[in-house]
Amino acid sequence: MSTREPRRTRHSADTQLEDEDEDDDDDDDEEKASSRSSSARTAYFRTPISRQNPNPLRSVQFGQRTAMEQDLLVTHCGTCGFEDGNLLSGICAQPTIGYNAFIFMALIELIIKSQCPIADPCRRVKSLRTPDAKELSDDEYDFVVVGGGVAGTVLASRLSEDSNSRVLLLEAGAEEPSISSVPAFAFTAANSTYDWQFETVPQKRACLGNGGVCLWPRGKMLCGTACLSGLMYTRGHPSVYDAWARNSSGWSYDEVLHHFKKSENNSEPEDEIEKEFHGFEGPLSVSRFPFQPDLATDILDAAKELGMRVGDPNGRQQQGFTLAPIMVKDGVLGSPNKMYLRPALGRKNLRVLIEAHVVKVNVDEAGSRAVGVEFDDKWGNRRRVKALKEVVACGGVVGSAQLLLLSGIGPAAQLRALNVTSVRDLPVGENLHYHVGFSIVLRVEGRNTNGMTIDSLREFVTNRTGPFTSTGLTQLTGFFASKYSAHGVPDIQLYLDGYSAKCRNRQSMRETSDISFRPIYLLSKCRGSIRLRSADPYDKPLIDPNYLCDDVETDALIEAVQLVRNLTLTKVLRDRVKRFDIAENKKCAHLRRKDEGDKDKDKDDGYSSSNAEYWRCVIQEYTNGENHHAGTCKMGPATDATAVVDHQLRVHGIPNLRVADASIFPTPINCNTIAPVIMIGEKAADMIKQTWNSRP
Ligand SMILES: Cc1cc2nc3c(=O)[nH]c(=O)nc-3n(C[C@H](O)[C@H](O)[C@H](O)COP(=O)(O)OP(=O)(O)OC[C@H]3O[C@@H](n4cnc5c(N)ncnc54)[C@H](O)[C@@H]3O)c2cc1C
Repeated sequence: MSTREPRRTRHSADTQLEDEDEDDDDDDDEEKASSRSSSARTAYFRTPISRQNPNPLRSVQFGQRTAMEQDLLVTHCGTCGFEDGNLLSGICAQPTIGYNAFIFMALIELIIKSQCPIADPCRRVKSLRTPDAKELSDDEYDFVVVGGGVAGTVLASRLSEDSNSRVLLLEAGAEEPSISSVPAFAFTAANSTYDWQFETVPQKRACLGNGGVCLWPRGKMLCGTACLSGLMYTRGHPSVYDAWARNSSGWSYDEVLHHFKKSENNSEPEDEIEKEFHGFEGPLSVSRFPFQPDLATDILDAAKELGMRVGDPNGRQQQGFTLAPIMVKDGVLGSPNKMYLRPALGRKNLRVLIEAHVVKVNVDEAGSRAVGVEFDDKWGNRRRVKALKEVVACGGVVGSAQLLLLSGIGPAAQLRALNVTSVRDLPVGENLHYHVGFSIVLRVEGRNTNGMTIDSLREFVTNRTGPFTSTGLTQLTGFFASKYSAHGVPDIQLYLDGYSAKCRNRQSMRETSDISFRPIYLLSKCRGSIRLRSADPYDKPLIDPNYLCDDVETDALIEAVQLVRNLTLTKVLRDRVKRFDIAENKKCAHLRRKDEGDKDKDKDDGYSSSNAEYWRCVIQEYTNGENHHAGTCKMGPATDATAVVDHQLRVHGIPNLRVADASIFPTPINCNTIAPVIMIGEKAADMIKQTWNSRP
């Protein structure tokens, strides 16, 4: 799932409001919600200025109430409490929407946070209460894991299973906000203080509608980028892993399947999955959302009508459409943080520090052994901890590369130019690869699509069902091979957006609604880079993905336009999908040719892939930099001049420093990236345990 540049994705709540009108009137539902607020066991506390949200998009200006959005909410259950995010009212209550919407959204958030199984405050990591060094007195650990995202939470949990190993996990961000656990609000933390809010350097062939600058959301919280996402679970085509294994032994699909299965607890309908490819006893619940809008079923029927396969994308075949498997349990999203780390938090040998920004890996004088890390705590104090055995970087595609570079591990000339002492000359930050695409917006006629109602809230709170337990059409996806793909390996993934719970507004009771199909190219051969802007660890790095450098990507995406058109012309969809909304792509409208003699005029002229120049323009102007970036600490042998880590994920020349996250992918995976990263966390844990258990 993604954020679209420069316009936001249709599921992004802040964008949904852009085209909605003011609705300031009294509202029955909102009054009912108000009367329930007394049951919420939460309290507002003023936040220090330094932690206020600097993003003007999210500041709410209702006179004296501006401060409310900037407050942190402390969520309590019994004697437990933690500083929780306060996101919904800020996103949904734009000045144009009005005060009632602000109150309604704030109440939804309060009521959801009052659900102890969702907020889970007794199993949260406590923020450091004082700058007192005593809280960090235990400064020697066997393993120091940097980054509490997808890989880091899996790894810290697995390494601490051995009670003789002392493990420290350091995460720069805070605890994940409760609201991100609710599927309908899965994307609300994007563009907030829970997001690093990176962006690219200007691109020559992408995001031109935004001056070439593409957005780059990355999670900054215990949970990482998983808590900006809808947690779709896909693994990709076996041939991708088999290609990795040609240079890195142990990584063929048959070999890593064990780690996928070890992590998975699958409860999808039995007759809809191929059981031999799935695990049923792992920590990670994988299932379907309990709720699907009608249109989701219609789109699957349309795919069947075209003779496409509808089925398990993680079984024998990847190709086809599916209701995506999701990391979800009982209607609530289950990130690796929740499923792996929280159950381990009681272990005496595991220490997790949040708001701990790691600025350097310390290496011995010979430059061949990591001895610990330096980090800044939430009070701004620089701390040092020792790693007796290993340091593992799990900071993700940006964070791990940036940390290694700051530590002198990277291209020597680049580092010297920034006055960073070079420790190892390695191509850190190079080999950045991506998924990329664009949106086709369609107008659909149907029933009311507004899920943001008091009934939805009631249904969610009472039964964990209804529109709040789904991401709408975003839960659908499909994998297809364009004519440019080799051996029929899918190189296009089709995402959808729409029909998700939206911010409260009477206008959304209307009978039509926009949805979008988002074709994404998966197997890019282009390579970009991440470089330091300066030696200051707080400076955002220079991110240059080099989007769309290869014409094949655009050509394959244009081919996907025809696929979308064919779907909308099926019996089941042709009366519902009324119009192709070309008006959105104003900058390219002059390139649209009318298709003379088109029998399907009601679908709007210009909607076919024969209009290649028009679509090329749309792709470059309104690029969707899909969020599956990887590759900046490439895995490969020492003989490969582009490799940073070996097949055991050890940095070449510094064997007790490993990298385990999306940055090690040598080439792109043709699917969403969380499941592969979890597999990497599992495999890294096994390799590390094996290394140290086999020593006398
Ligand atoms: C909007 C969006 C939607 C997505 N949807 C899906 C989806 O549905 N399914 C899917 O499979 N994938 C999805 N993805 C991609 C997926 O989330 C990422 O590929 C995945 O999270 C990468 O895992 P990681 O462990 O490599 O990094 P991350 O999960 O990003 O974790 C890195 C962690 O390290 C921390 N960190 C970084 N630097 C430091 C430092 N110096 N000190 C301390 N801590 C640090 C970060 O704060 C972060 O918590 C989505 C991504 C986005 C942005």
